[in-house]
Amino acid sequence: MKFKSINFTCKNCGAPLRFSPIHNSLDCEFCATQESIKKSIEQVKEYDLQTALNSLETVSEQEISKEVTCNKCAATFTMTPYSFSSNCPYCDTPAITDFVKDITPKSLLPFHLSNKEAQTLFKKWIGSLWLAPSKLKKFVEGNEKLKGYYLPHWTYDADTYTQYRGQRGDVYYVTVQRTVTVNGKQQRQSVQEARIRWTAVSGRVSNAFDDITIGASKTISHAILDNLAPWHTDVLVPYNEKYVSGFHSEEYTVGLDNGFELAKVKMNQVIRNDIRRDIGGDRQQISSMQTQYNNTSYKNVLFPIWTAKFKWKNKVYNYAINGQTGKVTGERPYSWVKIAAIVGTLGGGAGGAVYVDQHPEILQELRSINVQHIG
Ligand SMILES: [Zn+2]
Ligand SMILES: [Zn+2]
Repeated sequence: MKFKSINFTCKNCGAPLRFSPIHNSLDCEFCATQESIKKSIEQVKEYDLQTALNSLETVSEQEISKEVTCNKCAATFTMTPYSFSSNCPYCDTPAITDFVKDITPKSLLPFHLSNKEAQTLFKKWIGSLWLAPSKLKKFVEGNEKLKGYYLPHWTYDADTYTQYRGQRGDVYYVTVQRTVTVNGKQQRQSVQEARIRWTAVSGRVSNAFDDITIGASKTISHAILDNLAPWHTDVLVPYNEKYVSGFHSEEYTVGLDNGFELAKVKMNQVIRNDIRRDIGGDRQQISSMQTQYNNTSYKNVLFPIWTAKFKWKNKVYNYAINGQTGKVTGERPYSWVKIAAIVGTLGGGAGGAVYVDQHPEILQELRSINVQHIG
C-alpha cells in the first residue's frame, strides 16, 4: 500500500532537518541552522481503559506493508507495517508517514542523549564489565552502529482493591532436652527450638498505581525493555513529528489488552508485598486473592532508545541504552544481567545506578569528550 511521507527542510539551504538531542531542536547538518520546536501547551492526557478496550473488540487489524516514496530523491522503498518514521535507504532523508493503528501515540519523551554520548556510555559499561580496555576498543569499534528508536509503550493507572485469605506464622520457642557429645562424653542439655504457630487470616488492601509501563514493541526483547526502566514520564511532551525526524519510530505490536495483562503481573508483585505486610507476623502465606481494578486508564507513549548488537565469539548480543537517562542494559556472554549504568571513571559509585539526568556533571563531561573527538 502506498503511503505519503513528510520531512522537514532547512529554510537556509534546503537540506533535511533532524531532531537533535543536544539542542532539543531540528538541526541542519550542512549549514548548522537550528529550528526550535515550539513547546506545546497541550496537556498529556490519560484515556479510559475500559472504553478503549470495548471499542477495540470490534476492529480487526491488518498488517499493511508501507510503500514510501522519498521526497528528496524520489526512490521508492518499503517500511515495515508498524514503522512510521525512518530514513530513505538511498539518500538518508527522513520520512515520516501516517499511523495505521487505532490508537496513536499522543505523547513522547524526546531523545536527551546523542548517538555519540550513548556510544560512550556503552563503551564504559562494557569496559567495566568483562573485557580489558585494549581488546574492547578494537572490538566495539568494528561493530554495528547504534540506531535510535522511538519505541511504543503503554502506561497504565489503576486503583486496586484486593481481598485475600492466608496464614500468619508466629515464631515461638520451646525448650527441649537433647543428648550431645562433649569431649567424648554424652551429656543431656536443654536447647531452645523454634516453632511456628499458623493462624488463618483474611483482609483487604488497596493500592493506587500510576504509570505502570509496558513495552509494546517486539523489536527489542521484553527483558531488555524492562531493564531500561525507570522512565521519567512526568516530562512527557505532546506528540510532534519534529521529535521523530531522523529516528526510527514504531507503532505498537503488543495490544492494549495484552499490555494490561502484563501490567497486572507487575501490580500483583506490589499487592502481594502489601498483603504480607498487612498479615504481619514472622511468616506469611497467601492462599487466595481477588483484585478489582478501578479507574483504569492508559496512555500510548514513545520512549527513546539507542540500540545495536555486537558479535563476540560467533554469538550475537543485543544491548540498549535509555535515551532519556543513559541507563545501559543488554545481553552479555554467559548470562542475562540486569545492570545499571556504571559510569566508571566519571564518578559513578561502584555498583550504583548513575543516570545522567540526575547528574548533569556527567553529561557535561560526556559532551566535552565529544567536542574533543570532533576537533
Ligand atoms: Zn541548512
Ligand atoms: Zn531518498
